Amino acid sequence: MINRRSLLKALPLGLAGTTFSFSFPSLIAAVAGEKHHEWNYEEPHKWGELTREYQACKLGQQQSPIDLESFVASSLQPIEISYQQIPLRIVNNGHTIQINTNPGNYIIVDGEKFDLLQFHFHHPSEHSLKRETYPMELHLVHQNKQGTLAVLAVFLKEGQENTHLKALWEAMPSHKIPEKLIDNVRVSLEDLLPKNPSIYRYFGSLTTPPCSEIVHWVIFQNPLEISATQIQKFHEIFPLNARPTQPINRRFILSYIS
Ligand SMILES: [Zn+2]
Repeated sequence: MINRRSLLKALPLGLAGTTFSFSFPSLIAAVAGEKHHEWNYEEPHKWGELTREYQACKLGQQQSPIDLESFVASSLQPIEISYQQIPLRIVNNGHTIQINTNPGNYIIVDGEKFDLLQFHFHHPSEHSLKRETYPMELHLVHQNKQGTLAVLAVFLKEGQENTHLKALWEAMPSHKIPEKLIDNVRVSLEDLLPKNPSIYRYFGSLTTPPCSEIVHWVIFQNPLEISATQIQKFHEIFPLNARPTQPINRRFILSYIS
């Protein structure tokens, strides 16, 4: 374990005679880099001021989520989805319940392959549809070789119990804990998506710091159902884990109706 105080004290000496092109404060930040800049959902408007790395949260022009209001009809190719059953590796990271997925699950967007990394939940929904929010939203996060993300988003509305989420809901850790593997539970990823492939698409950002503008958003037009009891259980762990909607600015939302 490095003693940070002695390291910082030694730094000015270490810098003397060197030709570092970056500024001293940024070097300090880099040295202290393991310190995570804490953010929360109470003050999302302040994310952009917490650290330089979160600047896009404040200055970005292609931020997410957004209100889905008016659409450009399009004849896009449907998204190709290749999902399997996976073991349940679940984590409460303090901001959401996240399920880390195994390699081998992917989608093809505009001819490009994006591998599934994880999925997680928001309460209430982050995107809204003509100003209307849903009780919850599911995000399946995929990444291509260049590091660009493609997120499949599914609205969850109150209705019947969602049996495909039952085992996951029973395993949900109520406090922040590292990943744990739940024995003998498999999650069928395909069942987490609506059967109707109609989607909206737009380009935007991560909805958590650092708010990087690297995300192809693919939002299913049809919601899935989840019971009031299931919503309540998530609510008790995360009363609010949704970023407010951001300005659409110069962007268009494409609509592909199947
Ligand atoms: Zn999300």
